[in-house]
Parts: sequence; structure tokens; C-alpha cells
Amino acid sequence: MRNLIILLLVAGIYSCGSKKELSKESSKVSIEAKTTDSGVEFVKLQDVQQAMEYMASDELEGRNTGSAGIEKAAVYIESFFKENNIKPYFETYRDSFKVKKLDGYNVVGYLEGNDKDLKSEFVILGAHYDHIGVGKEVDGDTIANGANDDASGTIAVLEWARYFAKTKSNKRSVLFTLYSAEEMGLKGSEHLAAKLKEAGIDLYTMINFEMIGVPRAEKETMAYLTGFNLSNMAEKLNEYAKNDVVGFLPQAKSYSLFKRSDNYPFYQQFKIPAQAISTFDFTNFEFYHHVDDEVDKMDFNHMTSFMNRMIPALEGMINAATKEIRMHNE
Ligand SMILES: [Zn+2]
Repeated sequence: MRNLIILLLVAGIYSCGSKKELSKESSKVSIEAKTTDSGVEFVKLQDVQQAMEYMASDELEGRNTGSAGIEKAAVYIESFFKENNIKPYFETYRDSFKVKKLDGYNVVGYLEGNDKDLKSEFVILGAHYDHIGVGKEVDGDTIANGANDDASGTIAVLEWARYFAKTKSNKRSVLFTLYSAEEMGLKGSEHLAAKLKEAGIDLYTMINFEMIGVPRAEKETMAYLTGFNLSNMAEKLNEYAKNDVVGFLPQAKSYSLFKRSDNYPFYQQFKIPAQAISTFDFTNFEFYHHVDDEVDKMDFNHMTSFMNRMIPALEGMINAATKEIRMHNE
């Protein structure tokens, strides 16, 4: 999410060092729910951890747009798509664009829907795979590894791509989109949204996943949805999941987070429900755009449980017979 530093200072948590006891209990719940009707494997903790250890490694140098590090990240995502039979949507997986004289490229995977009518409609699941590269030096460390921001969301999108490619359970077509240049002002998502609009795709919904690496306090819903009051998306996702996976966060409204993440360019272009989901609630993570946003700060039980619990919600949305998720101002 863009430009949160001022908000975090206002919220008084930016690198203030206060250690809040985070509940670990809730993260165990969905792990047990491994079996499904079709016996498909759900997301595995070790896969999530392995991916994070690479995406947020010093070797990737904080994945700044235009850097050698982000190129390695893009290659990783492309080979993941290939290994899991997820096709490119365009000629290649890369949707290239120029930003500040730098070469930026989103990485886009595509799974065609299995329903003869609904497959002409699209759902987009997204996250940004870029980060800021370097941060303010702390004990000689200058690499901003961006584990939570937003390697966590990137890995979630990849794991759902793996799930739907394996189960082939998506009636609508799905684009798995990883954005670059988010940290430079949503430049990657702006480019792709305009390109898909021009191509005239029938976009149903878009959900962007941002900073889902650490759990919220036990009494809170697992995650929150930005633009909560703008559509019935939260209500429908919770209905499909048969429990409250997303809720409302007052700060998300007061800080207009709806406009600060890669969902927004899709709302601007298509005026459809394009919103973001996060578990970062201004109380549970003090290393935003900080060199300590590292692998060891991530809660892999929580991340795995989040990804597993979101699957029925996403499946319900992708397979609904009609476009029942709608903007309230439609
Ligand atoms: Zn971010």
C-alpha cells in the first residue's frame, strides 16, 4: 500500500519497537481442514515458507523496479506458472511498460474457465511483487526485503493459481496478476488495467492481496476488505466461506486504503468491485518499508491458514451463476 509512512507515524507504530502479543491460536484452525470433497491438497506451510525465503532473500535486493533483483523475482514467478500449467495471457507472461525511464513488467498468468458461458467473464487475483530495494540503514543492513510488503500477497496469489490449476474448479476465467512499480505509484496495475480495458475484457471482480504476513488479534476477523461499504463483496465472500474471513477496518476507510493499492486502477477503468484484502491493521506490524520486513517476521501458520480459508470464498466468487457481487452505487 502506498505512502503509509505518514499514516503509521500518525498511528504511532512506525518502528516504535512495541511488541504486541499476537495470538497464534487462530492460525491453527484451518490447517486441519486439509481434505476437501475432491481430496485436493490445500496450501502447504513448507511451500509458503520456501517461496518467502527466496522472494524476501537478500539475493533479490528488495525487488526494486528496474533492478537485477526484481528480474530474478519475475523469473521465479514465470517458472512457477510454467510448472503449474498456468499459461501466459499475452504472448509472454510479461506485460511490459516504461516508468521513469526504467523497464517495468507485470507478470500475468491465465486459467481459462471450464464453463462454456461463464468462461467469457474474468476474475483477477493480484498482488505486487516489487518493493523499494533499499531502506534506512539499521546495523549495517540496507536491504528492504519486503517480506510482508508484498511478497506475502504475491505468494498467496501463486498458491491459489496452483490450487485452481490443479482442481480446474474455476468456471470463470482467472488472471493471476503480479504487479511491478506499485511502490512508484501503482504504475504496473495502472498499465495493465488500461490495456485490459482497451482489449474489452468482461471483468467481473478484482481482488488485490496486500500484506497478509502476520495475523490480526484473535478477536478480529482474519482480514479486512478495503472499500468495505462500496459493494457487497465482503458479505458475499463470507457467505461463500461460511464464516467471516473479511471484515471492516475503520482506518482503512479513514486512510482511503481503497485508493492506495493495485485494485484501484481496475475500479477506475471498469467501475466494478475491485478491492483489496489485508491483515495489516496498523497494530500488528512495525516494519513497514523497513529493512527488518524480513522472513523471520512472517507467521507461516497464519499465512497458510489465510490462504486455505480464502479458497472457498474465492471459489464461490469465481463460480457464482450470476454477477451477484456488485457496487452499491451501480
Ligand atoms: Zn505494498
